[in-house]
Amino acid sequence: MILTCPSCSTHYFADDSTIGESGRTVKCASCGHSWFVRPAGDDTEREPPPPPHELYRERMRERRREKSRLAAALSWVLMALVFVGLTAAAFFFRSEIVRVWPQSAGAYRLFGLEVNRFGLDFEGQVVTRTFNDTVPIVTITGRVVNVSQAAVDAPGVRIDLRDERGAVVATRYSLITPIALQPGEAGQFGAVIEPAPNEAFDLGLSFVELSEVPPLPPAGPVPDLRDMPPADDPYSDGD
Ligand SMILES: [Zn+2]
Repeated sequence: MILTCPSCSTHYFADDSTIGESGRTVKCASCGHSWFVRPAGDDTEREPPPPPHELYRERMRERRREKSRLAAALSWVLMALVFVGLTAAAFFFRSEIVRVWPQSAGAYRLFGLEVNRFGLDFEGQVVTRTFNDTVPIVTITGRVVNVSQAAVDAPGVRIDLRDERGAVVATRYSLITPIALQPGEAGQFGAVIEPAPNEAFDLGLSFVELSEVPPLPPAGPVPDLRDMPPADDPYSDGD
């Protein structure tokens, strides 16, 4: 019979008797590879079954591979959960996050999320234009509502007057009263701009940290005392 080395393809001629009835292992003289040769009449193409200890080892290897595949899958699931968790936290706590880390507001804006980091919303404002003699005056008053779930220490309000092209032509700051708002509670702010720029066209409101509010100018309109009821003087009665 002709033997062909499975490793280097060298052909050998071997007498059938040297292989015997049960086959035997031969070694390639050219490359040193050993392989099992079945007797000439045996046409089964199957490799001889590996010895039992090989089977056992292979089973163990397969079990280990399965385990590490499972571990890999689990770690992916865990990572995905952590990622989803972080994303959800970043979403639901974005006000708090931006509060302590204001730079993150830019990142949120990238995703189209406007962050209400103060937990307050403007709820309508009134702008009146009057004249003091010939000087134009713009008076702005507005309300803010605590839309968060917790009490809020009121920030400052920045009031911008803009011209028709959106350029800021005047800026005033206002505090909010009361200085602390319970959930759902509303506060007020206001400012008087005098003289108001003629080109003032639009109003822009935003919340700012109290530290950004410059010292307020001397209190604006003082309540008109003539409108108040006269105070009773208990000491002038008995005479
Ligand atoms: Zn060989």
